[in-house]
Amino acid sequence: MRPFILPFKQTIPGHQVLAGLIMLGVILFPFDSCGGDYSGPHQRMMLAIHRDVARNSQVLGRDNLSDEVARAMARVERHLFVPLELRSNAYANSPLPIGHGQTISQPTIVAMMTDLLALSPADTVLEIGTGSGYQAAVLAEIVPGGIVHTIEIVPELARSARNRLATLGYDNIEVHEGDGYLGLPDQAPFTGIMVTAAASEIPEPLIQQLAPGGRLVMPVGPHGETQYLTLLSKNNEGQVTEKVVLAVRFVPLVRR
Ligand code: SAH
Repeated sequence: MRPFILPFKQTIPGHQVLAGLIMLGVILFPFDSCGGDYSGPHQRMMLAIHRDVARNSQVLGRDNLSDEVARAMARVERHLFVPLELRSNAYANSPLPIGHGQTISQPTIVAMMTDLLALSPADTVLEIGTGSGYQAAVLAEIVPGGIVHTIEIVPELARSARNRLATLGYDNIEVHEGDGYLGLPDQAPFTGIMVTAAASEIPEPLIQQLAPGGRLVMPVGPHGETQYLTLLSKNNEGQVTEKVVLAVRFVPLVRR
């Protein structure tokens, strides 16, 4: 049988064959470097995130998300975390209401906050503000050998996120109902702590529960005004430093 490629060789110049092969690679392995096997709206969401990260490269100190974070964002299906009537908008790069006056964060912010924690696969992570469970799922993808503890103050949200995450098969996430301001002293220390609700100061108990060498990311600022995504790092001697990353707007961290 004649090889399929022969007629091309005869009629198409070498550089065009090469270009064709590269194109074929792009079609067969789209965005492989972002861990992607995703399409349509999810793919557009990923492109929007990569664009936002590149735009904010100066404040983030890097041009790209880590491969692990990009892969996690590509893997977790956001439409499974939003109310049914909003599913058609699930992959818009914007926050969405999830009931009880709360919102699921904008995907770009989820990706950036996750990236800032610079987690390793076996880390123990604490999230405050479970909401839909989306952010917890993204974190859980990044610490397959570790665990994500997440605390939610609204009992109905805690319950529905727990059910959703169990149905999706996440066995490395524990949803706790309670006031996240106090953290989880019994499970501390945490290598990474993420607070997905804003307060005017980083809660002292959370700083105490951060492991040496650990990182905490949280929106800091008064309710209703601009808040600043803040990265707190604790060195191996236990000293903490803070860095302001980005202006953001979050729902408030409430107290019981
Ligand atoms: N991370 C969520 C979205 C966060 S919205 C997601 O991926 O969907 C902020 C959440 O923080 C809300 O669900 C709100 O009820 C919760 N919250 C506010 N104050 C809290 C507190 N003190 N402790 C725990 N959760 C709190």
